[in-house]
Amino acid sequence: MSATILGIDLGTTNSVVATVDDSGEVVVIPNAVGEETTPSAVYFESGSDVIVGDEAKRLGAIDPENGVILIKRHMGTEFPLVIRGQDHTPESISALILRQLVASAEPQGEARAVITVPAYFGMREREATAQAARIAGLDVMELVDEPVAAAIHYGLTKPGTRTVLVYDLGGGTFDTTVLKVEHGHVTVVATDGHSKLGGADVDERLQAIVLQQLEDLIPSDDYEEFVDDEAKLGALMGDVESAKRQLSSREESKLVVHSPAGRITVTLKRDELEDACLDLFAATTEIIERVLEKAKAKGVGGIDEVIMVGGSSRIPALATGLHKLLNITPRLVDPDLAVAKGAALRAHQIAGTSQLVALAQNRGLLTANGSNGSSGPGTVTPVLPRAVGLLIDDSHDPEGKRQFVAHLIHANTELPAEETTKGFGTILPKQESVRIQIYEQAGSSPSEELAHNHRVLDGELTGLGELPAGSVIEVTIKVAIDGRLTVIAREPISGRELTLEAFMEGVVDSADVEDLTSRVGVLTVRG
Ligand code: AMP
Repeated sequence: MSATILGIDLGTTNSVVATVDDSGEVVVIPNAVGEETTPSAVYFESGSDVIVGDEAKRLGAIDPENGVILIKRHMGTEFPLVIRGQDHTPESISALILRQLVASAEPQGEARAVITVPAYFGMREREATAQAARIAGLDVMELVDEPVAAAIHYGLTKPGTRTVLVYDLGGGTFDTTVLKVEHGHVTVVATDGHSKLGGADVDERLQAIVLQQLEDLIPSDDYEEFVDDEAKLGALMGDVESAKRQLSSREESKLVVHSPAGRITVTLKRDELEDACLDLFAATTEIIERVLEKAKAKGVGGIDEVIMVGGSSRIPALATGLHKLLNITPRLVDPDLAVAKGAALRAHQIAGTSQLVALAQNRGLLTANGSNGSSGPGTVTPVLPRAVGLLIDDSHDPEGKRQFVAHLIHANTELPAEETTKGFGTILPKQESVRIQIYEQAGSSPSEELAHNHRVLDGELTGLGELPAGSVIEVTIKVAIDGRLTVIAREPISGRELTLEAFMEGVVDSADVEDLTSRVGVLTVRG
C-alpha cells in the first residue's frame, strides 16, 4: 500500500491535517473526536498514556504539571521538560501531537507529509520541527512556510505576477507576510508579527466584561467566591470563547453563569467586543504598516490581494479594518483550515499524484505542462528566508579580535542552494582541528556584524593531517528545499572529506532523536 500523503498545519494553539481525496477535493481529516482542528495540547495521564487535543487541553488546565500547551513557542530552543519523571523536549512533545494527527488520518501509520512552519522560523526552528517528525516516524516531504501554504489554498500561486498580503490571526499569535508571486515562484518579501496576540486576548477582554456585569448583579461575597474558584473561571472562559465565535455571525450572544448567587444570564454584544478590543485590532494594523514599510524598502510596493487565515480572522471588524487600510476586499475562506489545505495541495504536488494534477490545473496552480513538481511555471519554488554564512576571524583587524559573518548563501536564493567557501584555511602548521560556526541572519536585512546574526551550528573539523599553515579548507553549506542545513568540509589538494562534529543550537541531535524515538514510541497516545 502506498503511503498516505498529508498536509499538516502544526499550530501554536491548534493543528489541522488535510489531504486530497480520490475525487481531487482537498479535505480536512477529522480527529478522533470528529473535530477538524485539534488543540496542540498534550496531557500525560500516566508515564505511559498520553492524550492529545481537546481533552488534553481541559485536563492540562486543571493539572498543568502534567500538561503541555504552546510548545511551538519553544521550538529551536533549549527547553527541557520533566513530566511524570520522564525527560522531554519541544521536539518530543511536538512528535506526540504529530503522531496523534497522523493516527486519525492513517491508522496504519504509513504517511508522508508536508508540514508548515511560520515564515519567521529560522534554521534551528525548522530543524527542530523536522526532528519532531522523525521522532513521530513521519516522512517529511518538505517544510513549507504557512503564508505560502495559505496562498496555495487561495489559488494565488498560479502563473502571473502579484503581491499578496497574508493576515494570520490565530489563538495566540499574529503573523503578517508580504509574498511576491512571480511566474509561480513565491518569495517571502517581508514578515512581521506578534507572538502573544490572538484570540486568547479577545477572550480575556470578553471575560472581563462578563465579570464586570456579574459584579454589578450579585452580592460582593458571592462574586469573590466565584472569582476565587479556578474551575468555575475555567468553565466560564470556555463559554466566553463560544459566545465570541457566535458574535462573528450575530450581533449578540447570551451565556449563563453558574454563580454562588444562582444562575445569571449575561448578554454580550458585538460592538462591546469591538470596543473592548480596539487596541488589539490597532496593534495588528500597526504591524501591517510595519511589514508594508519593510516590503517597500525591498522595492515591493502595492498589494494586489489580501488573504485572511487563522480562526480569529473571522471577527468581522478585522476584515473591515483591512479594507479601510488597503482599499482591497480581503478574502476569507476556511481561515482555520487554509494552511493545512494548502500544505496538502503542496504535498500532492510534490508527490505528483494524478488527481492533484487535474485539480491544480483547474485552480490555475499548475500549467498543463508544468505538472511534475519541478520548478516551472505555476509551481512553488521556495527561497532561503535568511542569509547564512560562516563566522570569520578578521585577519585585517590589528587587535585580532574582530569577528564577522561572511554570508555564503544570500536571502531569497532559490532552494535547494549550495555554496563553497574560498580562501578559508588553517592558521598553524599541523593544526589538529578547525572550529566551524555557522550563523544565520537574525534581523530583517543581512549584516555581517556578529550581533545581527545568530548561531545555528557549532562544530569541530578534525582529521586534517599534517597540513602546513595557510592550507585551504573548503566548507560547503547546503540548504535543502525545506530550508534545512548540511555542512561538508574537504581538503582540496587530496580531495579528502574531513570529519565534522557539530551540533545545532537548541535542537536535539541524532543520538537524542534515536533515544526520544524509542521513548516516545512506547507511549500510548489517544485523542
Ligand atoms: P487558530 O489558532 O487559527 O486555530 O485560531 C484559533 C482561534 O480562533 C481561537 O482563539 C478561536 O477562539 C478563534 N476563533 C475560531 N472561530 C472563531 C470565530 N468564528 N470568531 C472569532 N474567533 C474565532
